[in-house]
Amino acid sequence: MKKAGIKIEDLHLSFGPTEVLKGVNLDIQPGEFFAFLGPSGSGKSTLLRSIAGFGPQPRGRIMIGDRDVVGLDPWRRNVGMVFQSYALWPHMSVRDNVAFGLRERRLPASTIGPKVMEGLELVGLAHLADRMPNQLSGGQQQRVALARTVVTEPTVLLLDEPLSNLDASLRVQMRRELLRLQRKLGLTTIFVTHDQEEANTTSDRMAVLDGGVIQQIGSPQELYDRPANLFVARFLGTAN
Ligand code: ADP
Ligand code: MG
Repeated sequence: MKKAGIKIEDLHLSFGPTEVLKGVNLDIQPGEFFAFLGPSGSGKSTLLRSIAGFGPQPRGRIMIGDRDVVGLDPWRRNVGMVFQSYALWPHMSVRDNVAFGLRERRLPASTIGPKVMEGLELVGLAHLADRMPNQLSGGQQQRVALARTVVTEPTVLLLDEPLSNLDASLRVQMRRELLRLQRKLGLTTIFVTHDQEEANTTSDRMAVLDGGVIQQIGSPQELYDRPANLFVARFLGTAN
């Protein structure tokens, strides 16, 4: 699968008079598992949506690979996004849900079938292809959402708190599966979470956000050992 890095330069975004991204700079390596960690309202979703191309256009640059995607429509960016609420089509089988994006891309039917099954195998759900979404558990639904995104072969995978609707033990299990899948595909991934444990156990590096500003970027270990300021120390629970 293709990999692309993501480079963000001096990104600003306002809703009306309120600036919610205040000059974000980031350099994510191809194949990296990167987390955005921060409290509610810190701008994580807004930053992720800017990369995906949803919502108002920011000022600044967002390079995916060697293309500046600011101003490009979402479907021309080759990004895949999974949200907190999985929003499968309730009237379509698992198979048709996963096929949906491929049909929209007008792939020939002969390639869609095998791709769908490959996607479902990746998330361990090939045996449930003919179920309807309401016959699945929350965790299974989120796996289908992941399969549906991955089969479109995005160059980057954007995950906005994808596990936060699941109960605690399932969340831990899904976290491991997500990491395994990401390693297997080598997909450049941004994982948004307000849960430091989740960021720690998955990410190669993370950015801690507060108030639309990145407070620190580094590996989980670096941030714990050397928090850059009091906010990071308090948020990670290392201040005493
Ligand atoms: P997070 O995902 O970290 O919880 P968000 O990116 O959702 O934070 O929100 C960042 C800030 O932007 C918040 O203050 C929020 O109220 C504001 N915001 C987000 N979306 C909108 C919107 N569509 N219109 C106005 N304000 C918004
Ligand atoms: Mg959010």
